[in-house]
Amino acid sequence: MHVSMFAEAYRLPQGVNLAHETIEELKGLGVSPAPQYYEVWSSHRAQLLPELTTLIQKMLQTRDGVTEEKLERLHERFFTGAKISAQVLETGVRIARELTEVVAALETAGLRTDEFGARLEKSAAELKAARDPDSIRQMVATLIDATQEMSEQNRVLSARLQNSTREVESLRSTLRQARAEALTDSLTGVANRKHFDEALRWRKAEADVEGAPLSLAFCDIDHFKRFNDNWGHQTGDQIIKFVAGAIQKLAYRDHLVARYGGEEFAVVMPRTNLDAGTALCEQMRGAIENKRLVRRATNEDLGTVTASFGVVEYQPGENVHDFIERADACLYAAKRAGRNRVMTRPDNAVPTAA
Ligand code: GH3
Ligand code: MG
Ligand code: MG
Repeated sequence: MHVSMFAEAYRLPQGVNLAHETIEELKGLGVSPAPQYYEVWSSHRAQLLPELTTLIQKMLQTRDGVTEEKLERLHERFFTGAKISAQVLETGVRIARELTEVVAALETAGLRTDEFGARLEKSAAELKAARDPDSIRQMVATLIDATQEMSEQNRVLSARLQNSTREVESLRSTLRQARAEALTDSLTGVANRKHFDEALRWRKAEADVEGAPLSLAFCDIDHFKRFNDNWGHQTGDQIIKFVAGAIQKLAYRDHLVARYGGEEFAVVMPRTNLDAGTALCEQMRGAIENKRLVRRATNEDLGTVTASFGVVEYQPGENVHDFIERADACLYAAKRAGRNRVMTRPDNAVPTAA
Protein backbone atom coordinates (compact mmCIF):
# COMPACT_ATOMS: atom_id res chain seq x y z
CA MET A 1 0.00 0.00 0.00
CA HIS A 2 2.90 2.36 0.54
CA VAL A 3 3.93 2.33 -3.12
CA SER A 4 1.11 4.65 -4.06
CA MET A 5 1.90 6.88 -1.07
CA PHE A 6 5.51 6.82 -2.19
CA ALA A 7 4.51 7.85 -5.69
CA GLU A 8 2.38 10.62 -4.24
CA ALA A 9 5.18 12.03 -2.07
CA TYR A 10 7.68 11.90 -4.93
CA ARG A 11 5.43 13.32 -7.62
CA LEU A 12 7.21 15.65 -10.07
CA PRO A 13 8.39 18.35 -9.94
CA GLN A 14 9.07 18.47 -6.19
CA GLY A 15 9.89 14.74 -6.29
CA VAL A 16 13.13 15.68 -8.00
CA ASN A 17 14.14 17.82 -5.02
CA LEU A 18 13.14 15.13 -2.54
CA ALA A 19 15.15 12.57 -4.50
CA HIS A 20 18.09 14.91 -4.68
CA GLU A 21 17.95 15.60 -0.93
CA THR A 22 17.66 11.89 -0.17
CA ILE A 23 20.83 11.24 -2.13
CA GLU A 24 22.60 14.15 -0.42
CA GLU A 25 21.61 12.91 3.05
CA LEU A 26 22.82 9.41 2.26
CA LYS A 27 26.08 10.93 1.10
CA GLY A 28 26.34 12.84 4.38
CA LEU A 29 25.88 9.58 6.31
CA GLY A 30 28.60 7.90 4.27
CA VAL A 31 26.03 5.57 2.70
CA SER A 32 25.94 4.93 -1.04
CA PRO A 33 22.68 5.73 -2.88
CA ALA A 34 22.27 2.08 -3.92
CA PRO A 35 18.58 1.35 -4.66
CA GLN A 36 17.88 -0.47 -1.41
CA TYR A 37 19.37 2.29 0.80
CA TYR A 38 17.63 4.87 -1.36
CA GLU A 39 14.30 3.15 -0.90
CA VAL A 40 14.67 2.93 2.87
CA TRP A 41 15.87 6.50 3.24
CA SER A 42 13.36 8.10 0.88
CA SER A 43 10.46 6.27 2.58
CA HIS A 44 11.74 7.50 5.92
CA ARG A 45 12.14 11.12 4.68
CA ALA A 46 8.62 11.12 3.26
CA GLN A 47 7.41 9.58 6.56
CA LEU A 48 5.56 6.82 4.78
CA LEU A 49 6.27 4.09 7.33
CA PRO A 50 6.09 5.32 10.94
CA GLU A 51 7.62 2.10 12.24
CA LEU A 52 10.59 2.51 9.90
CA THR A 53 11.08 6.13 10.95
CA THR A 54 11.03 5.18 14.63
CA LEU A 55 13.73 2.57 14.06
CA ILE A 56 15.86 5.01 12.07
CA GLN A 57 15.55 7.66 14.77
CA LYS A 58 16.76 5.13 17.33
CA MET A 59 19.55 4.10 14.97
CA LEU A 60 20.70 7.71 14.60
CA GLN A 61 21.25 7.81 18.37
CA THR A 62 23.44 4.71 18.48
CA ARG A 63 27.22 5.01 18.64
CA ASP A 64 27.91 3.83 15.10
CA GLY A 65 24.82 5.61 13.71
CA VAL A 66 23.42 4.66 10.34
CA THR A 67 25.39 2.08 8.39
CA GLU A 68 24.83 0.28 5.11
CA GLU A 69 24.61 -2.98 6.99
CA LYS A 70 21.79 -1.72 9.20
CA LEU A 71 19.94 -0.19 6.25
CA GLU A 72 20.29 -3.51 4.46
CA ARG A 73 18.50 -5.21 7.36
CA LEU A 74 15.76 -2.57 7.40
CA HIS A 75 15.32 -3.01 3.69
CA GLU A 76 15.05 -6.74 4.11
CA ARG A 77 12.46 -6.25 6.81
CA PHE A 78 10.28 -3.59 5.21
CA PHE A 79 10.66 -4.00 1.49
CA THR A 80 11.82 -7.36 0.27
CA GLY A 81 10.40 -10.76 0.23
CA ALA A 82 11.90 -13.49 -1.89
CA LYS A 83 9.36 -12.53 -4.51
CA ILE A 84 10.14 -8.82 -4.80
CA SER A 85 12.02 -9.45 -7.92
CA ALA A 86 15.13 -8.28 -9.63
CA GLN A 87 12.67 -6.42 -11.85
CA VAL A 88 11.73 -4.15 -8.97
CA LEU A 89 15.35 -3.45 -8.08
CA GLU A 90 16.07 -2.79 -11.73
CA THR A 91 13.15 -0.38 -11.89
CA GLY A 92 14.46 1.39 -8.80
CA VAL A 93 17.86 1.77 -10.44
CA ARG A 94 16.26 3.19 -13.56
CA ILE A 95 14.16 5.69 -11.64
CA ALA A 96 17.21 6.81 -9.68
CA ARG A 97 19.18 7.18 -12.93
CA GLU A 98 16.36 9.10 -14.54
CA LEU A 99 16.10 11.45 -11.57
CA THR A 100 19.84 11.98 -11.46
CA GLU A 101 19.79 12.98 -15.12
CA VAL A 102 16.92 15.39 -14.57
CA VAL A 103 18.74 16.97 -11.64
CA ALA A 104 21.83 17.36 -13.84
CA ALA A 105 19.75 18.90 -16.65
CA LEU A 106 18.15 21.35 -14.22
CA GLU A 107 21.51 22.33 -12.81
CA THR A 108 22.93 22.93 -16.28
CA ALA A 109 19.91 25.00 -17.21
CA GLY A 110 20.27 26.96 -13.96
CA LEU A 111 23.87 27.87 -14.80
CA ARG A 112 23.02 28.89 -18.35
CA THR A 113 20.13 31.03 -17.10
CA ASP A 114 22.52 32.86 -14.77
CA GLU A 115 24.90 33.39 -17.65
CA PHE A 116 22.06 34.67 -19.78
CA GLY A 117 20.94 37.03 -17.04
CA ALA A 118 24.47 38.40 -16.73
CA ARG A 119 24.62 38.92 -20.48
CA LEU A 120 21.31 40.77 -20.48
CA GLU A 121 22.42 43.04 -17.65
CA LYS A 122 25.69 43.83 -19.38
CA SER A 123 23.86 44.55 -22.64
CA ALA A 124 21.38 46.77 -20.83
CA ALA A 125 24.21 48.78 -19.30
CA GLU A 126 25.95 49.04 -22.66
CA LEU A 127 22.74 50.13 -24.34
CA LYS A 128 22.34 52.99 -21.87
CA ALA A 129 25.85 54.16 -22.64
CA ALA A 130 25.64 53.62 -26.39
CA ARG A 131 25.32 56.64 -28.58
CA ASP A 132 25.57 55.56 -32.22
CA PRO A 133 22.85 53.52 -34.00
CA ASP A 134 25.30 50.96 -35.40
CA SER A 135 26.58 49.80 -32.04
CA ILE A 136 23.00 49.74 -30.70
CA ARG A 137 21.92 47.65 -33.69
CA GLN A 138 24.89 45.38 -33.04
CA MET A 139 23.97 44.94 -29.39
CA VAL A 140 20.32 44.25 -30.20
CA ALA A 141 21.41 41.55 -32.65
CA THR A 142 23.55 39.96 -29.92
CA LEU A 143 20.60 40.05 -27.53
CA ILE A 144 18.29 38.42 -30.04
CA ASP A 145 20.84 35.66 -30.56
CA ALA A 146 21.18 35.08 -26.84
CA THR A 147 17.42 35.06 -26.36
CA GLN A 148 16.93 32.58 -29.15
CA GLU A 149 19.64 30.37 -27.75
CA MET A 150 17.99 30.53 -24.35
CA SER A 151 14.55 29.67 -25.63
CA GLU A 152 16.03 26.81 -27.66
CA GLN A 153 17.62 25.49 -24.46
CA ASN A 154 14.34 25.82 -22.61
CA ARG A 155 12.58 23.96 -25.34
CA VAL A 156 15.09 21.11 -25.15
CA LEU A 157 14.93 21.10 -21.37
CA SER A 158 11.17 21.05 -21.28
CA ALA A 159 11.06 18.19 -23.80
CA ARG A 160 13.61 16.38 -21.64
CA LEU A 161 11.45 16.87 -18.53
CA GLN A 162 8.33 15.72 -20.33
CA ASN A 163 10.15 12.60 -21.46
CA SER A 164 11.33 11.96 -17.93
CA THR A 165 7.88 12.40 -16.50
CA ARG A 166 6.53 9.85 -18.96
CA GLU A 167 9.38 7.47 -18.24
CA VAL A 168 9.00 7.77 -14.47
CA GLU A 169 5.21 7.30 -14.72
CA SER A 170 5.67 4.08 -16.64
CA LEU A 171 8.39 2.81 -14.30
CA ARG A 172 6.13 3.65 -11.39
CA SER A 173 3.29 1.59 -12.77
CA THR A 174 5.67 -1.31 -13.43
CA LEU A 175 6.74 -1.11 -9.81
CA ARG A 176 3.18 -0.99 -8.57
CA GLN A 177 2.24 -4.01 -10.63
CA ALA A 178 5.32 -5.99 -9.62
CA ARG A 179 4.63 -5.22 -5.99
CA ALA A 180 0.98 -6.26 -6.28
CA GLU A 181 2.08 -9.52 -7.87
CA ALA A 182 4.64 -10.09 -5.17
CA LEU A 183 1.89 -9.79 -2.54
CA THR A 184 -0.70 -12.04 -4.18
CA ASP A 185 -1.13 -15.79 -3.95
CA SER A 186 -1.12 -17.03 -7.52
CA LEU A 187 -3.52 -19.96 -7.02
CA THR A 188 -6.33 -18.15 -5.23
CA GLY A 189 -5.76 -14.46 -5.97
CA VAL A 190 -6.03 -13.56 -2.27
CA ALA A 191 -3.09 -12.03 -0.38
CA ASN A 192 -0.06 -14.21 0.23
CA ARG A 193 1.79 -14.85 3.46
CA LYS A 194 4.13 -11.90 2.97
CA HIS A 195 1.20 -9.54 2.46
CA PHE A 196 -0.45 -10.97 5.56
CA ASP A 197 2.70 -10.38 7.64
CA GLU A 198 2.89 -6.78 6.47
CA ALA A 199 -0.81 -6.09 6.90
CA LEU A 200 -0.96 -7.58 10.38
CA ARG A 201 2.06 -5.57 11.57
CA TRP A 202 0.54 -2.47 10.12
CA ARG A 203 -2.94 -3.08 11.56
CA LYS A 204 -1.43 -3.80 14.98
CA ALA A 205 0.43 -0.46 14.87
CA GLU A 206 -2.79 1.23 13.79
CA ALA A 207 -4.76 -0.42 16.60
CA ASP A 208 -2.08 0.73 19.09
CA VAL A 209 -2.52 4.30 17.90
CA GLU A 210 -6.29 4.35 17.47
CA GLY A 211 -7.19 2.04 20.33
CA ALA A 212 -9.77 0.46 18.02
CA PRO A 213 -10.40 -3.30 18.16
CA LEU A 214 -8.62 -5.65 15.76
CA SER A 215 -9.49 -9.30 15.25
CA LEU A 216 -7.63 -12.12 13.59
CA ALA A 217 -9.01 -15.39 12.29
CA PHE A 218 -7.30 -18.54 11.11
CA CYS A 219 -9.16 -21.06 9.01
CA ASP A 220 -8.11 -24.54 7.95
CA ILE A 221 -9.96 -26.93 5.64
CA ASP A 222 -11.07 -30.09 7.43
CA HIS A 223 -9.73 -33.49 6.37
CA PHE A 224 -8.30 -31.98 3.28
CA LYS A 225 -5.70 -34.68 2.89
CA ARG A 226 -8.43 -37.24 2.47
CA PHE A 227 -10.02 -35.09 -0.19
CA ASN A 228 -6.73 -34.70 -2.02
CA ASP A 229 -6.08 -38.44 -1.87
CA ASN A 230 -9.53 -39.27 -3.23
CA TRP A 231 -9.74 -36.73 -6.00
CA GLY A 232 -6.20 -35.70 -6.79
CA HIS A 233 -4.18 -32.59 -6.33
CA GLN A 234 -5.83 -30.55 -9.08
CA THR A 235 -9.28 -31.01 -7.66
CA GLY A 236 -7.73 -30.22 -4.28
CA ASP A 237 -6.55 -26.94 -5.74
CA GLN A 238 -10.06 -26.24 -6.99
CA ILE A 239 -11.33 -26.65 -3.40
CA ILE A 240 -8.66 -24.33 -2.03
CA LYS A 241 -9.77 -21.70 -4.55
CA PHE A 242 -13.41 -22.20 -3.62
CA VAL A 243 -12.73 -21.74 0.10
CA ALA A 244 -10.57 -18.65 -0.54
CA GLY A 245 -13.37 -17.17 -2.66
CA ALA A 246 -16.08 -17.96 -0.09
CA ILE A 247 -14.08 -16.22 2.65
CA GLN A 248 -13.16 -13.27 0.47
CA LYS A 249 -16.77 -12.76 -0.60
CA LEU A 250 -17.94 -12.33 2.99
CA ALA A 251 -14.98 -10.34 4.33
CA TYR A 252 -15.42 -6.58 4.59
CA ARG A 253 -13.66 -4.17 2.30
CA ASP A 254 -10.87 -3.29 4.71
CA HIS A 255 -10.30 -6.88 5.83
CA LEU A 256 -7.35 -8.76 4.46
CA VAL A 257 -7.89 -12.36 3.42
CA ALA A 258 -4.65 -14.26 2.95
CA ARG A 259 -3.57 -17.78 2.11
CA TYR A 260 -1.40 -18.52 5.10
CA GLY A 261 -0.25 -21.94 3.99
CA GLY A 262 -1.37 -24.88 1.85
CA GLU A 263 -5.04 -25.09 2.85
CA GLU A 264 -4.97 -22.58 5.62
CA PHE A 265 -6.23 -18.99 5.49
CA ALA A 266 -6.03 -15.91 7.68
CA VAL A 267 -8.37 -12.93 7.92
CA VAL A 268 -7.15 -9.65 9.43
CA MET A 269 -10.18 -7.67 10.62
CA PRO A 270 -9.45 -4.07 11.65
CA ARG A 271 -12.04 -2.16 13.69
CA THR A 272 -13.78 -5.47 14.42
CA ASN A 273 -14.25 -6.83 17.93
CA LEU A 274 -14.36 -10.48 18.91
CA ASP A 275 -18.16 -10.78 18.70
CA ALA A 276 -18.34 -9.26 15.24
CA GLY A 277 -15.31 -11.24 14.07
CA THR A 278 -16.80 -14.47 15.38
CA ALA A 279 -20.16 -13.80 13.72
CA LEU A 280 -18.45 -13.15 10.41
CA CYS A 281 -16.39 -16.36 10.63
CA GLU A 282 -19.58 -18.20 11.45
CA GLN A 283 -21.06 -16.91 8.18
CA MET A 284 -17.96 -17.97 6.31
CA ARG A 285 -18.06 -21.41 7.87
CA GLY A 286 -21.72 -21.80 6.87
CA ALA A 287 -21.10 -20.64 3.30
CA ILE A 288 -18.35 -23.25 2.89
CA GLU A 289 -20.39 -26.04 4.45
CA ASN A 290 -23.50 -25.34 2.39
CA LYS A 291 -22.01 -25.38 -1.08
CA ARG A 292 -22.27 -28.57 -3.08
CA LEU A 293 -19.08 -28.96 -5.04
CA VAL A 294 -18.73 -30.27 -8.54
CA ARG A 295 -15.48 -31.49 -10.01
CA ARG A 296 -14.86 -29.08 -12.83
CA ALA A 297 -13.10 -31.49 -15.17
CA THR A 298 -15.73 -34.25 -15.04
CA ASN A 299 -18.83 -32.71 -13.46
CA GLU A 300 -18.70 -35.37 -10.74
CA ASP A 301 -20.38 -34.52 -7.45
CA LEU A 302 -17.70 -33.92 -4.83
CA GLY A 303 -20.07 -33.50 -1.92
CA THR A 304 -19.20 -30.72 0.51
CA VAL A 305 -16.19 -29.54 2.49
CA THR A 306 -16.02 -27.95 5.90
CA ALA A 307 -13.50 -25.73 7.60
CA SER A 308 -12.52 -24.89 11.17
CA PHE A 309 -11.89 -21.37 12.47
CA GLY A 310 -10.03 -19.81 15.38
CA VAL A 311 -10.71 -16.14 16.13
CA VAL A 312 -9.09 -13.80 18.65
CA GLU A 313 -9.14 -10.10 19.41
CA TYR A 314 -5.91 -8.16 19.76
CA GLN A 315 -4.88 -7.36 23.34
CA PRO A 316 -3.27 -3.90 23.49
CA GLY A 317 0.51 -4.14 23.63
CA GLU A 318 0.60 -7.81 22.68
CA ASN A 319 3.26 -8.68 20.12
CA VAL A 320 2.30 -9.96 16.69
CA HIS A 321 3.83 -13.37 17.30
CA ASP A 322 1.69 -14.00 20.40
CA PHE A 323 -1.40 -12.68 18.63
CA ILE A 324 -0.90 -15.23 15.82
CA GLU A 325 -0.16 -18.00 18.32
CA ARG A 326 -3.45 -17.38 20.13
CA ALA A 327 -5.45 -17.50 16.89
CA ASP A 328 -3.66 -20.69 15.91
CA ALA A 329 -4.34 -22.27 19.30
CA CYS A 330 -8.07 -21.53 18.87
CA LEU A 331 -8.03 -23.08 15.40
CA TYR A 332 -6.51 -26.25 16.79
CA ALA A 333 -8.99 -26.26 19.63
CA ALA A 334 -11.73 -26.18 16.96
CA LYS A 335 -10.08 -29.17 15.25
CA ARG A 336 -9.84 -31.08 18.52
CA ALA A 337 -13.44 -30.28 19.40
CA GLY A 338 -14.63 -32.00 16.22
CA ARG A 339 -13.98 -29.54 13.31
CA ASN A 340 -16.48 -27.44 11.28
CA ARG A 341 -16.76 -24.83 14.02
CA VAL A 342 -15.55 -21.41 15.13
CA MET A 343 -13.63 -21.21 18.41
CA THR A 344 -12.54 -18.14 20.31
CA ARG A 345 -10.70 -19.86 23.15
CA PRO A 346 -8.02 -22.51 23.17
CA ASP A 347 -9.59 -24.45 26.03
CA ASN A 348 -12.87 -26.29 26.42
CA ALA A 349 -15.11 -23.27 26.08
CA VAL A 350 -18.48 -23.77 24.41
CA PRO A 351 -18.08 -23.65 20.63
CA THR A 352 -20.32 -21.23 18.73
CA ALA A 353 -21.44 -23.88 16.27
CA ALA A 354 -21.28 -27.60 15.94
P1 GH3 B 1 -7.35 -31.40 9.41
O1 GH3 B 1 -8.82 -31.47 9.44
O2 GH3 B 1 -6.76 -31.80 10.71
O3 GH3 B 1 -6.87 -30.06 8.99
O4 GH3 B 1 -6.86 -32.47 8.34
P2 GH3 B 1 -6.13 -32.20 7.00
O5 GH3 B 1 -6.10 -33.47 6.25
O6 GH3 B 1 -6.75 -31.04 6.30
O7 GH3 B 1 -4.74 -31.66 7.52
P3 GH3 B 1 -3.27 -31.89 7.07
O8 GH3 B 1 -2.48 -30.68 7.46
O9 GH3 B 1 -2.78 -33.21 7.57
O10 GH3 B 1 -3.32 -31.95 5.50
C1 GH3 B 1 -3.24 -30.83 4.69
C2 GH3 B 1 -2.98 -31.36 3.31
O11 GH3 B 1 -3.14 -30.31 2.37
C3 GH3 B 1 -1.59 -31.85 3.10
C4 GH3 B 1 -1.30 -31.56 1.66
O12 GH3 B 1 -1.34 -32.74 0.90
C5 GH3 B 1 -2.44 -30.70 1.22
N1 GH3 B 1 -2.01 -29.49 0.56
C6 GH3 B 1 -1.21 -28.52 1.06
N2 GH3 B 1 -1.06 -27.55 0.13
C7 GH3 B 1 -1.77 -27.91 -0.96
C8 GH3 B 1 -2.01 -27.32 -2.24
O13 GH3 B 1 -1.52 -26.24 -2.56
N3 GH3 B 1 -2.80 -28.00 -3.10
C9 GH3 B 1 -3.36 -29.19 -2.78
N4 GH3 B 1 -4.14 -29.79 -3.67
N5 GH3 B 1 -3.14 -29.77 -1.59
C10 GH3 B 1 -2.37 -29.15 -0.69
MG1 MG C 1 -6.65 -29.15 7.13
MG1 MG D 1 -3.48 -27.50 7.49
